[in-house]
Amino acid sequence: MYDVIIVGGGLAGLTAAIDLSRYGYEILVFETNPYPHHKVCGEYVSQEVTPYLKGLGIDLEAEGAVKISNFEMSTVDGKKVTTRLSMGGLGISRYAFDYLLYERAKEQGVTFNFTKVQDIKFQNDDFQVNCQERISYKAKIVIGAYGKRSGLDKSLQRDFMTRKHSWLAVKEHYRNDKFPENLVALHNFEGGYGGLSKTETGDVNFCYLVHYNSFKKYTDIQDFNLKVVSKNRYLKEFLGESEPIFEKPLSIAQISFEKKQPIVNHILMCGDTAGLIHPLCGNGMAMAIHSAKLAAFSIRKYLDNTDFDRLTMEKEYTAAWNRTFRNRLWIGRKLQHVLLNRNWMNAALRTSLFSERLLKSVIARTHGKPIHYD
Ligand SMILES: Cc1cc2nc3c(=O)[nH]c(=O)nc-3n(C[C@H](O)[C@H](O)[C@H](O)COP(=O)(O)OP(=O)(O)OC[C@H]3O[C@@H](n4cnc5c(N)ncnc54)[C@H](O)[C@@H]3O)c2cc1C
Repeated sequence: MYDVIIVGGGLAGLTAAIDLSRYGYEILVFETNPYPHHKVCGEYVSQEVTPYLKGLGIDLEAEGAVKISNFEMSTVDGKKVTTRLSMGGLGISRYAFDYLLYERAKEQGVTFNFTKVQDIKFQNDDFQVNCQERISYKAKIVIGAYGKRSGLDKSLQRDFMTRKHSWLAVKEHYRNDKFPENLVALHNFEGGYGGLSKTETGDVNFCYLVHYNSFKKYTDIQDFNLKVVSKNRYLKEFLGESEPIFEKPLSIAQISFEKKQPIVNHILMCGDTAGLIHPLCGNGMAMAIHSAKLAAFSIRKYLDNTDFDRLTMEKEYTAAWNRTFRNRLWIGRKLQHVLLNRNWMNAALRTSLFSERLLKSVIARTHGKPIHYD
């Protein structure tokens, strides 16, 4: 019997494991892929999580993450707006970031099992977690931190799994010495947009999101990059002068931005499992980390205090999750709608609607305040 089983060892799962293990609980994390591994992600993490991570013993800058303070955005037609980021962010690959958290969790006595979880049952106030090799584990609490989409969502009969989702994402690292270290860029193309920023290796991550309707007419990623992505002149210039590093780009499909619930069948959902913000906000990683902090706070109260029952814990976590993230997710959905509409974007830039001031206000609304360690 574990105190807490965490399903999924991405940023949300690993953060929850590190936070909770400080109090001596027995924690087991299930993760499908052994570390380190690459993941599809823009790899720009907002500084809002820096104080909390430092408190947990993780200093991203000391690990070589690059400091990012400038932002630029361009339309399909090459109109550009730039601004300085008030809080800013760090550039670090998921290969390095997730591995760093994994090492920290291990140091604190967290147990890892590199197996796929098949289903999670709640009976008689306990959880039974069933794995691929038909072995079961028991826990008082389960955190669902298995990311955007998993077979588990189907077994939990989550609503969004009954529908098809038309977004796919592609990521590749490039060698490019000209790209400024302190910049994160967001460039639009027909049916999607892509982000560019440096990582701790000095390479530039190019990660884009695209609607399947735009992608399906082309034979492969290379063809799409050439015929659609490169219509944005900044992306054309970048791809023209950069050398790809991976053997082939990583990609994921069926990405859903639909509303989800933070509690399902008594499981506390964290990170993308509770809700995915549109990547243009550059805030999904910070939200995953922050949601883990909120879950850890309520779980601790439940495990240490007999008066704080399961229902009260679930209500507290749900309220905290909604208070912290619901508005950001709503703004992200609206923003994506505007960003992908070529006419609106051009009109906005022509009439200076999309001024630097507006951009700053949008960034502030999709990000949180610095979160602290306590
Ligand atoms: C195109 C794109 C670009 C993005 N760019 C940025 C950005 O620049 N900045 C930013 O802050 N956010 C960005 N995001 C969002 C960010 O990547 C996510 O919000 C973040 O990774 C969420 O972390 P997580 O821990 O919830 O999920 P994940 O990191 O996806 O971790 C989930 C883990 O669960 C494991 N797992 C899944 N199923 C099972 C199972 N059944 N059993 C065991 N393990 C399982 C997986 O292997 C995985 O390691 C982007 C997202 C996309 C799609």
